[in-house]
Amino acid sequence: MEAKLELESILLPGVEGKRPLIIAGPCSAETEEQVMNTARELSANGVKIFRAGIWKPRTRPGSFEGIGSTGLPWLQRVKKETGMYTAVEVATAQHVYEAIKYGVDMLWIGARTTANPFAVQEVADALRGTDMPVLVKNPVNPDLELWIGAFERLNRAGIKRLGAIHRGFSVYQKIKYRNDPQWQIAIELHRRIPQLPIITDPSHISGDSELILEVSQQAMDLNFDGLIIESHECPARAWSDAKQQVTPAHLKMIMNDIVIRDASIGDKPRTELDELRQQIDILDKQIVEIVAKRMSISEKIAKYKYENGITVLQARRYDEILASRRATAEQNKLNPDFVIKLYEAIHEESVNRQTAVMLELQKAAK
Ligand code: PEP
Ligand code: MN
Repeated sequence: MEAKLELESILLPGVEGKRPLIIAGPCSAETEEQVMNTARELSANGVKIFRAGIWKPRTRPGSFEGIGSTGLPWLQRVKKETGMYTAVEVATAQHVYEAIKYGVDMLWIGARTTANPFAVQEVADALRGTDMPVLVKNPVNPDLELWIGAFERLNRAGIKRLGAIHRGFSVYQKIKYRNDPQWQIAIELHRRIPQLPIITDPSHISGDSELILEVSQQAMDLNFDGLIIESHECPARAWSDAKQQVTPAHLKMIMNDIVIRDASIGDKPRTELDELRQQIDILDKQIVEIVAKRMSISEKIAKYKYENGITVLQARRYDEILASRRATAEQNKLNPDFVIKLYEAIHEESVNRQTAVMLELQKAAK
C-alpha cells in the first residue's frame, strides 16, 4: 500500500540542516545534577538537541523505570541555561500532556511502543492540534509496515513534522550488536517515503560505547540524516544502558572522526535504482555471512563425526536436506531447481570442509 504522508521539516530554529543532525543526552534523566552536568558539557561541544528518557520502558520490572515527571523541570532548566532544545520519549497520552506542559520541544516514540498500534494511536490523539516534531523509532520486530503505520497514525492526527529513528531490531540469537541493524529496512523506508528524515541510533543498535563510531559511520555512508547518541557524564554509573553510553568528550571525538562523504557522484542525485542496488548489496553481504556461519557449524559437525567414528557423507541426510530445501523454495515462490543447484554448491563445499577438518584431526591424533 502506498504511504501518502504530508510532511514538514523537523528542523528547529537555529539548528543547521547539514548532515548529521545530532541529538544527544543520557538514556535516562537520573538526578538534576547528572542532567545539568551532562547537558552543559554537550552544549559546550556544540550539541543543540538534548535527549533524556523520563519514562523508561524496561524489559523486566524492578529495574529503574525512569524518574517520571519529577525530571521535567530539570529539562526546563537545561533549556534555560544552555539554550538546547529538549526531547523525550512518550508512550501514553499522559506523557504527551506532561511533556508539553514543561515545554519539551521534540518527542520520540520508543521501539516497544511503535510495535503497539493502540499506544501509537493514543499518542497521536493526544498530539492532535499541536505542531510537535515527533520521531518514531522502528518497532522492535522487523516490520516496515508497522513502522509506516505509526507515521500514518500521527499524520492523520495532523502531525506533519515527522522523522524516523532506526535503532535496529531485536534478535534472539547472539550477534555482534545488541540489535540487528537490518539496514535494508531503513533504506526501504527511505525509498518508500523519500522526504522522511532518518536518524540512526547507534547506541541502541550496537549496545556498546566502543562500537558507536563504526555504526555512525555506516549510517552516514548510507546517507541517513542524523544520529541520536546516548551520552552520560559518567557512563559507568548510569542507571540504565551503562554499557552503551559515551561521555560528552567521547561523543566529541566520535563526531570529529566521522567522515561525511558526498552522497551524489558529481551532481547526480541518487536514483531509485541506486537505492535498490544498495539494498541488494546489503542482502548479498548477509547471504555470504550466513553461508560462513553455516560452514562453521559444518566444521563442528565434522569434529563430532570424527570423535564418534561416523562417516562424513550420509546419503539419507543429504536426501532429506534436498527435499526440505525444495519445499522451502516452493513456499517462498522460488524455482526449486535453482535452490537445489544452490544447495548442491553449498553442500559440496561443506563436505570438502568436513573432510579437511577430519583429516586434520586424524593427523593431529597420530
Ligand atoms: C531509549 O532511547 O532510551 C530507548 C528506550 O530506546 P528504544 O525504544 O530504541 O529501545
Ligand atoms: Mn537507552
